[in-house]
Amino acid sequence: MQTIGHDSWGIVGHHWAVDMLRHAVAAQRPAHAYLISGPRHVGKSLLALRLAQTLNCEQAGDAPCDECRSCRRIAKGNHPDVRIASLATQGATLKAEEAARQRDVRIETVRTWLADINLRPYEGRRRVFILDDVERLSEGAANAMLKVLEEPPPYATIILVAHTAGDVMATIVSRCQAIKLRPVARDAIAPWLMTQGVSERDAVTYAAWSEGLPGLAHQYAHNPEAAGQLQAQLDELLSLSQRPLVECFKWVEEQGKAFRGGEQAAVYDTLLLWQRWWRDVLVVAAGVPDAITWVNRHADVTRVARGTGVVPAAAFVRRLVLAVRQLRENANPQLVFEQLILQLPDRQ
Ligand SMILES: [Zn+2]
Repeated sequence: MQTIGHDSWGIVGHHWAVDMLRHAVAAQRPAHAYLISGPRHVGKSLLALRLAQTLNCEQAGDAPCDECRSCRRIAKGNHPDVRIASLATQGATLKAEEAARQRDVRIETVRTWLADINLRPYEGRRRVFILDDVERLSEGAANAMLKVLEEPPPYATIILVAHTAGDVMATIVSRCQAIKLRPVARDAIAPWLMTQGVSERDAVTYAAWSEGLPGLAHQYAHNPEAAGQLQAQLDELLSLSQRPLVECFKWVEEQGKAFRGGEQAAVYDTLLLWQRWWRDVLVVAAGVPDAITWVNRHADVTRVARGTGVVPAAAFVRRLVLAVRQLRENANPQLVFEQLILQLPDRQ
């Protein structure tokens, strides 16, 4: 048995999870079902894929070799023993708009995905079934899944991936080995980006922006549009302190429309972005030597911190947290955003 470090799994952070899976594979005792949960872009799907590769790698080590036919086919998504389903695969035949509006993973999707789960592997050593968006299983789909988990087939490993484990049916959770992934330290993300040819300065910036989510840092580093969009979004928020009230209220109206029009996630993202800015201001105003998110705008953060002070900055951070809660409790989005504009501590 060859012993290979975490790096050969190509996973940033989550060492404990990689170690646990490596040992299970080395001992030839992988669980019948895993539930990998954590925030978006933290690395859940990648971990699932690397496990599928390790279980079927022709080198039979405790890490994927990345070179054998099996590893390569799994990476390309065309290995007969590795089945992947998700809201995206379910909506593959729909128009983009309809696909985005899908509410749950349907029972037919789960049935098709698990159709031949009792068969022996065709080519590999183990059949691996990966299902994403598990927090969105319909009741029927969850029950179909439960039946399979109650009598796990001998040659299969089921890997369920959920964005929030809290929304997965308790009876499903109890039949899986739980792997909860948390945000990764930015000190681990920056060097990883540098191995991809990103300069040190940029790597540190993207790692900070990502808030511990390697997938997001990777996007910022390799997709200039994503990085540009984030900065443009922040610029818009910051401009609200200077723009005339009538323009700000136009913006408020847009947020309300977006929220009611089904773009809740985008509106929550905006609030989170704003919160991160004001948290930076607070941290700098309070003189706490803590890592800030907007490392590329240190001078701006410092200027606003000097002009605002600790107490108003702290109050506005709390105000933004409250706004998220109010929206979740069905408050009128327009009123919530209006209040934010009127209470902006640095409005001129
Ligand atoms: Zn291999």
